[in-house]
Amino acid sequence: MKLLEGRRVLVTGSTRGIGRAVAERIAQAGGRVGIHGRSPENVSRAAGAIGGAVPVPADLSDPANAALAVRRFAEAAGGIEGLVNNAGGGRAAAFRSMTLESWRKTFALNLEAAMLACREAYLIMRNQGFGAIVNIASLAAHGPGRWMGADYAAAKAGLVSLTRSLAFEAARFNIRVNAVSPGFVETEMTAALTPEMRERLRIPLGRLARPDEIAEAVLFLLSDASSYVTGETLIVDGGLGLGG
Ligand code: NAD
Repeated sequence: MKLLEGRRVLVTGSTRGIGRAVAERIAQAGGRVGIHGRSPENVSRAAGAIGGAVPVPADLSDPANAALAVRRFAEAAGGIEGLVNNAGGGRAAAFRSMTLESWRKTFALNLEAAMLACREAYLIMRNQGFGAIVNIASLAAHGPGRWMGADYAAAKAGLVSLTRSLAFEAARFNIRVNAVSPGFVETEMTAALTPEMRERLRIPLGRLARPDEIAEAVLFLLSDASSYVTGETLIVDGGLGLGG
């Protein structure tokens, strides 16, 4: 029996990068996956490449669409046992240049959309008495947000906090809620890093993570291999957070 046999899991932001690797890993583990992204064409293309995948396009710059995406996936797949809130992003920005508008934009995508997706999935999972949610935060949530803006670090810290609060409330319904905080991962988000910039990061394991290395951590937290783990954040950063 495969780890996620019979489980239906929506992964937001899964047309590329970490989300795509997570979706592929879920499918390999026997799960039925929901592919989500902004562009309907990219979503269809990515879903077409994964057996049995359900395409769920939705623009999360309006966070209300996150709840709709969960509902649409659950209807199309006939249920939902897992949710991965992965869609997100930000940029390096000095605090002095931060505006309320850019702050709100970052929070809308990284925290508000995830909160509404969590709530929608939680309501369905409560009724069935089973579910697993994994939120993709960031190493930035646990430190001073040295490499990204304060808006991104604060939104991801909020996501870690939301993970713990929801885990506490949802535990009695047999729903587990955890987070994964990646360090630097080889995706479009980090494509602009030059070899010199990578060197200066001094990552103890000596390189950026591959997206599939983040996907393994997510798979663990979605599956029954972590059946007694909830409210936790697994930092997958090659030792970067150790300092040095
Ligand atoms: P990416 O930019 O390659 O992919 C982001 C995904 O989110 C895409 O599928 C995109 O379609 C989706 N998305 C972005 N804005 C959206 C919107 N408004 N509506 C709908 N979908 C939207 O990024 P990635 O590096 O794969 O990052 C995935 C997650 O991991 C993000 O939450 C990011 O903050 C987090 N993360 C990444 C790194 C890294 O080094 N790459 C490090 C720590 C955390």
